[in-house]
Amino acid sequence: MKAAVFHKPGDISYDTVEDPRLENPGDVILKVTSTAICGSDLHILDGGIPQAEDMIMGHEFMGIVEEVGVNVKNLKKGDRVVVPFPIACGHCFFCQHGASPHCENSNYEHYGPDGDLLDQKGAALFGYTDLYGGYSGGQAEYVRVPYADISPRKVPDNMTDEQVLFLTDIFPTGWSAIDWAQLKGGEVVAIFGSGPVGLMAQKAAWIMGASRVIAIDPLEYRLKRARDVNKVETLNPHEVDVVEAIRQMTGGRGADVCVDAVGFEAERSFMEKVKATVNFEKGTVKVMELCFRAVRRSGTVTVVGVYGTPYDNFPVHRMFDKGITIKQGQAPVLNYIDHLIELVTTEKVVLNDIISHTLPLSDVSHAYDIFKNKEDDCVKVVLKP
Ligand code: NAD
Ligand code: ZN
Repeated sequence: MKAAVFHKPGDISYDTVEDPRLENPGDVILKVTSTAICGSDLHILDGGIPQAEDMIMGHEFMGIVEEVGVNVKNLKKGDRVVVPFPIACGHCFFCQHGASPHCENSNYEHYGPDGDLLDQKGAALFGYTDLYGGYSGGQAEYVRVPYADISPRKVPDNMTDEQVLFLTDIFPTGWSAIDWAQLKGGEVVAIFGSGPVGLMAQKAAWIMGASRVIAIDPLEYRLKRARDVNKVETLNPHEVDVVEAIRQMTGGRGADVCVDAVGFEAERSFMEKVKATVNFEKGTVKVMELCFRAVRRSGTVTVVGVYGTPYDNFPVHRMFDKGITIKQGQAPVLNYIDHLIELVTTEKVVLNDIISHTLPLSDVSHAYDIFKNKEDDCVKVVLKP
């Protein structure tokens, strides 16, 4: 089959690889109909999350069940499903406690970025390096889906792939960011990063009762997309001191909730590219730290942007003094997916309005280039095998 294969940082190509096959009785093989590139994939492309061997990329995908393992009860050949990005057994302590990204059975060995074997197992994700279980991803014609009775969800025939594809990751991720803050209604929510994840968090914030949603991003075309599709207020750090602006917008207090939907991208290639022209507050490049500054006392910061390296000078003093609540991590997609499918199928939310490019999978190198470099007003790329 054909697939998008990671070889080394900066090098992803469209290659011929071996077809996946059923390895366990609980597996299915999925014929992929649509897949997307995620900001998380850029961390692999950048080398920020290391991978030594060749690997098929992709954790946002959906398709038609092609082959079914003998133990699979809930799916049959021909079913059309979306597949949540964390691989979860459904039965271990963590799966039973709503923490499927920490499934004890799906990840064989969990290594830290410095190569040390960590003391506990952690998330296993499709197409997300040996660190995360070493599974092949879904930017391919076919993909093996383990524990197929647990995560995949059937989707209605009358909905297009584009309408439901983002249930695999970015909508549940944006939803987590807001759900973790437990809104009561009427909150001011400031969301740093208006990429696909930030855009989804904006949608979730409105649905969960925010009274004001503020999007922050240095890319004007992404802020325009946020205004157009989500009717949010926007701030561009090229133009204003965002922390000061958020304080001014909230009577000097700060936002009730700040969301970091950027992660360590801000200090990696992107920052290298724009550093010369962006004057973030007093040299601060960690978006998480901007969140601690912009949130009100006793407020909440949630972090869905990925951090893959240690962070010196972590401002614990500020967090303590302000009494900040913080929650972060990979999104527990399984906790939300059924409710979110309901929201999409009843048209309470539209997800496909963030797609800027639909390309054949054979264009995958180009697709990564425009998404990574934020060229051609790229917001979200859907790939068709
Ligand atoms: P993206 O790269 O398309 O978007 C990131 C956005 O952040 C860009 O628009 C960029 O301009 C903006 N940005 C950069 N520096 C900024 C700054 N200082 N202030 C404000 N905005 C800034 O990526 P994405 O697909 O939207 O993903 C965002 C993050 O979410 C990534 O780190 C990704 O790995 C992570 N993610 C996490 C989960 C999870 O489960 N926690 C799931 C999916 C994605
Ligand atoms: Zn993703």
